[in-house]
Amino acid sequence: MIINIPENSDFSIHNIPFGIFSTQNKGKRAGVAIGDHILDLAAVAELGVFDFDAGVLEREDLNDFIMLGKATTSKVRTDIQQWLQDEHSVLAGKPELFVKQSEAQMHMPVCVGDYTDFYSSIEHATNVGKMFRDPENALLPNWKHIPVGYHGRASSIVISGTPVHRPKGQTLPKDATQPVFGPSQRLDFELEMGFIVGKNTPLGASVSTQMAEDYIFGLVLFNDWSARDIQKWEYVPLGPFLAKNFASSISPWIVTLDALEPFRVPGPTQEPKVLPYLQYEGNKNYDIHLEVSIRPEGGTETPICHSNFKYMYWNMAQQLAHHTVNGCNIHVGDMMASGTISGKEENSYGSMLELSWMGTQPVQLKDGSERKFIQDGDTVNMRGYAQKGDIRVGFGEVSTKVLPAK
Ligand code: MN
Repeated sequence: MIINIPENSDFSIHNIPFGIFSTQNKGKRAGVAIGDHILDLAAVAELGVFDFDAGVLEREDLNDFIMLGKATTSKVRTDIQQWLQDEHSVLAGKPELFVKQSEAQMHMPVCVGDYTDFYSSIEHATNVGKMFRDPENALLPNWKHIPVGYHGRASSIVISGTPVHRPKGQTLPKDATQPVFGPSQRLDFELEMGFIVGKNTPLGASVSTQMAEDYIFGLVLFNDWSARDIQKWEYVPLGPFLAKNFASSISPWIVTLDALEPFRVPGPTQEPKVLPYLQYEGNKNYDIHLEVSIRPEGGTETPICHSNFKYMYWNMAQQLAHHTVNGCNIHVGDMMASGTISGKEENSYGSMLELSWMGTQPVQLKDGSERKFIQDGDTVNMRGYAQKGDIRVGFGEVSTKVLPAK
């Protein structure tokens, strides 16, 4: 190996995720994470090893690189894997091609044109239905027939490390008849994964479940910040709006579908049977461990949730097929988030709303304090990795500090 990769690194030779970084001396450019380092792809291109316009590696984002298509981007990944393992490759003896991650600033990896958030975890939808509506009939009648989703706000998707201000808005206090205005008292995270569209479709075209993976470049961790009190007052009848659009946070490295191939698993049985355009063949879920922790201001982290991407009832292929079945077009860089990923166990719930059961069962932190929702000064960290034998492919983290309302 040309570069030392620490054991248990998320960024093993099996991963090779893509991102946009800069340093004191280098402007924004494409790179891949390897161990604790970043391989500078713009610098690698100067060696003349790529057969495409290397200018796409020095843009503000990866959109033009992804636009080259998987035949090209997948080959870049496998070439790098080979070069890193070959002591005589073009990368050998060139330490200047590598940058320490600790010395780099990460940026949004793609320009997100459109963002959609699904609601695809049956455990999450059931929990929310029990709390907000009817404990006996928690799932609405459409839920097992439609991958329910809504169009979110692309402009406020930010990279890990970007602090988020507590949102202000209208809420209806308990037993009140008139709303009040002020900072949200119920700020929450949602543990999600987002996939990034890798191929355009024209208006009017649809993507089948069979073809869907051709249109998915890769995945990131996704924290869909939510203000539960604002949400509760505003969401009827048209769904989430200001409770969601103030911020969503993503991890900086896009892990490709290629890298996740070893971790395919069957999804849950779908009963009743779904309509033909939502039916699929093969294993379309992925076994990815997910974890959320809270670190209070000046304190230590407490893990509060362990979940897994494999729990998703609706898979990404079904989400994309549903999204486009009416002819809605999609573009490279579009972000499709999974919806909160909750499991069956109480410690696998992917939001404070569920973990504290709407504030009735506070979550204990290591410093002795408790949380019903997220407080100012708290940092919420989400991490994810897949592991099979010696093969580990991780996402790093999305880490966000919450600041007081402006
Ligand atoms: Mn969400």
